[in-house]
Amino acid sequence: MKAFAGIDLGGTNIKYGLADPGGRILINRSKPSHADRGRNEILKDLEECARELLEYAGHKKMKVPYIGIGSPGTVDTDKGKILGLSPNIPGWAGTGISSRLEKNLKIKVHVGNDANLMAWAEVLFGAAKGYRNVLCTTVGTGIGGGVIMNGKLVIGASYSAGEFGHIPIVKDGKKCNCGLRGCLEAYAGSDNLIAMARKEIKAAGAKSKYQGSLEDLTVRTILELFKQGDSAAYKAIAKQARYMATGFVSVIHLLNPEAIVVGGGIAEVVGADYTKLIKNALDNYAFKDALKGLKILKARLGNKAGFIGAAFQKEEI
Ligand SMILES: [Zn+2]
Repeated sequence: MKAFAGIDLGGTNIKYGLADPGGRILINRSKPSHADRGRNEILKDLEECARELLEYAGHKKMKVPYIGIGSPGTVDTDKGKILGLSPNIPGWAGTGISSRLEKNLKIKVHVGNDANLMAWAEVLFGAAKGYRNVLCTTVGTGIGGGVIMNGKLVIGASYSAGEFGHIPIVKDGKKCNCGLRGCLEAYAGSDNLIAMARKEIKAAGAKSKYQGSLEDLTVRTILELFKQGDSAAYKAIAKQARYMATGFVSVIHLLNPEAIVVGGGIAEVVGADYTKLIKNALDNYAFKDALKGLKILKARLGNKAGFIGAAFQKEEI
């Protein structure tokens, strides 16, 4: 039997594992990435993870067709090389992952952008299984995305497709982590969700369930407050959902997808209320014809989507 091996390099953790051809997970491991150690140490760790997976597969007499890696940043998927834009891993731009690992491991190594591969995983085995025209997004500090059209992951002319978080929604607006201005991420990312929640909690005063320091407010606390029925937290989340919907309209009008998948902590905790908020906003913002049959779905694979998508990146649907 074949086993698919994937490694998802993140700013905090390296998640890696093996799956059978049906996407069932055989191994699921994680280690801290210590992203500030520089590229050589990280490459050594990626190699070590790959060796662990190959060893397990060999032991079970399973054949691994290639090692799949997902990395932040713009990835030249033909060369398996990082081109740029990976602020969470200093010095990572320019790293030739495939060339180095293939030499040492003697197996084909494919590399893709992490958010693109998470999207691919959700289409292969997750929330968007069965759909062929999909936008998948993940909301955290940053907002990642991936687009699948006609059953194929869209990489783009210079490997930069799917940067959903950096669609501008306000001309010359707030400064974004990427250096540009007015990006969706600057409005719907964690930092601004916290800023919006602070404002709402302040306005609610004694009525708010949160009486701690506004400086200490985190996304986790906001989601906790939401679960307790705090209306200030709800209002901030509703605003964030409307910003997301604003970004979705661009994609809906351009590509007319069948499904939009939303992942990350907010969608995870708020669930159906969150997708409903997005749907309601879309009803006001988008063409009725473009919304016909459009599904807004909660991501299903959670933090395993990265390594699963990496593992199956050269497979087809
Ligand atoms: Zn940006």
